[in-house]
Amino acid sequence: EEKVKRIDSATDKARAREKDSDRLKVEENVFDVPTLKILYTLSNKGIIKAMGGAISTGKEANVFYAEGDEKELAIKIYRMASSTFKAMDAYIMKDPRFTNIRNNRRDIIFAWTRKELQNLKRAKSAGVRVPEPIVAEKNVLIMEFMGEEKKPYPLLKNTPLEDDEAKLVYNKIVEYMHLLYKEANLVHADLSEYNILIDPADKTPVFIDMGQSVTLEHPNAREFLYRDVLNILRFFGRYGITDKPEELLSKIQAE
Ligand code: ADP
Ligand code: MN
Repeated sequence: EEKVKRIDSATDKARAREKDSDRLKVEENVFDVPTLKILYTLSNKGIIKAMGGAISTGKEANVFYAEGDEKELAIKIYRMASSTFKAMDAYIMKDPRFTNIRNNRRDIIFAWTRKELQNLKRAKSAGVRVPEPIVAEKNVLIMEFMGEEKKPYPLLKNTPLEDDEAKLVYNKIVEYMHLLYKEANLVHADLSEYNILIDPADKTPVFIDMGQSVTLEHPNAREFLYRDVLNILRFFGRYGITDKPEELLSKIQAE
């Protein structure tokens, strides 16, 4: 009961904060009754101890800070009212792990959420630094919070780097792309400076946002990989990284 009240009041506060902004509608959309029920259940199980504030409002999902049993959590909630779910089709329908998903919004969003959890697990097992996935329940994904003092680590995009630091970050990203490809059998498929966080302590990258990541069997895997490669080279070009796309590709695909 107490926990439920805390979630309610955290939800109210989150809404109050957003009241006078354009985000109001989006925030209201995220906490529909079924989603609140999932959050209650997760709190009754002791997985969520207290809900915190909003970290991000994206095209399809909102991310919230929360306190877990021992660790801080990031809770990513895919909005059931999301209008862009159609874009999920191309990624999920041809993925051999998800061939029996019915073609409706609910099931696609739930499968997407499970897929993100599985992708994070595979990436982590392969040695890629990602948030530790904890649980996926319908449209709610719970994972380790990557940040400090309740603030997420900055995006690569917003991290000032010296040229020599940038070179190290680039090499680590290449290593992670290689591990993803060779060990996890995955292509991130939305890799860019917007989906890589930088741990300020040691400047190591953290890959996030793996809902759209596909296995190498996906018919568009090569095309997605090539796009990731171009994004990374475009970003690191400003730091004097001069690898050609084919060079980076062969590093990723090396034995
Ligand atoms: P979207 O699909 O909306 O882009 P992301 O997974 O990229 O969703 O998350 C959006 C933002 O939320 C990220 O840019 C990051 O700031 C924050 N975020 C996501 N996951 C975590 C996490 N595990 N720990 C801390 N912050 C996170
Ligand atoms: Mn993202």
